Amino acid sequence: MEEKKECSTCKDDSCSAKTRKPKESEKEYLERQKISSRMCQIDKKFMVLSGKGGVGKSTVAVNLAFSISSKGKKVGLMDIDIHGPSIPKMLNLEKSAVMVENNTIIPVQFSPNLKVMSIGFFLRHTDDAVIWRGPLKISLIKQFLGDVDWGKLDYLIIDSPPGTGDEPLTIGQIINDLTGVIIVTTPQDLALLDVRKSITFCRQVGIPVTGVIENMSGLICPHCGKKIDVFKSEGGKAMADDMGVPFLGSIPIDNHIVETGDQGIPFAFKYFKSDAGTAMEKISEKIIKI
Ligand code: ADP
Repeated sequence: MEEKKECSTCKDDSCSAKTRKPKESEKEYLERQKISSRMCQIDKKFMVLSGKGGVGKSTVAVNLAFSISSKGKKVGLMDIDIHGPSIPKMLNLEKSAVMVENNTIIPVQFSPNLKVMSIGFFLRHTDDAVIWRGPLKISLIKQFLGDVDWGKLDYLIIDSPPGTGDEPLTIGQIINDLTGVIIVTTPQDLALLDVRKSITFCRQVGIPVTGVIENMSGLICPHCGKKIDVFKSEGGKAMADDMGVPFLGSIPIDNHIVETGDQGIPFAFKYFKSDAGTAMEKISEKIIKI
């Protein structure tokens, strides 16, 4: 990856962080410059989004981040699902303490190539609820982008809450070179309806859609070996074609995904040879080619 310099010494005169915007206060300008100087050290930035909760968005974010990091890439996983941060549990990092040094937050290291940051690390108890309005959420996201010492990364994967609220909107507005949004859905009509809204949202905000992943796409019966389409099948592909966005692949239902999620082990690590593991691997290969 190309060496990127801090704002003060950066010679890129075309960078928007070099000059203060007309109506921007000094404080706003410094904050924007701080975020830009961190973000420009990260090569590719993806946000994982879904129309609905429970479709496997966090599962996909964790396994993509793990899978890409296991290919020797430096990856950051940022969990901005403020009301339901599940990444610490999914990676068995619930007891991890976040260090703060010189006003900089040090992310939790899952493995040598994978750094993690989540609001979950700041909650004293796992059943604590975060009751925050928009402005507080926006300021937390800005802190996660500007105050966390991500260092030089090849990839930043951002796990956003479902829907089109403050969190994905803030990411879309602050990271002006977001590589794209990876949208996770199940094949059923109910989920697909909301995914269409997510795609429209991306278009309205001007964020590129990297593609759609159809999760929970059929279950192979362990007794007879036949495929059961629990949530229907291929709806994700048809919807992606219809909306004119790329289709990245389908991940079948696998009970080991639930088991590994609860154990805090990436499924893509333990069951990489399974159908679902192979599907995740193919998707991560597509993503690193982008
Ligand atoms: P979301 O982030 O969209 O709310 P999660 O990633 O938390 O969804 O997944 C919801 C539940 O579904 C979790 O229990 C997870 O283990 C399970 N799950 C996700 N994908 C699959 C799959 N392909 N097969 C079986 N269970 C899955």
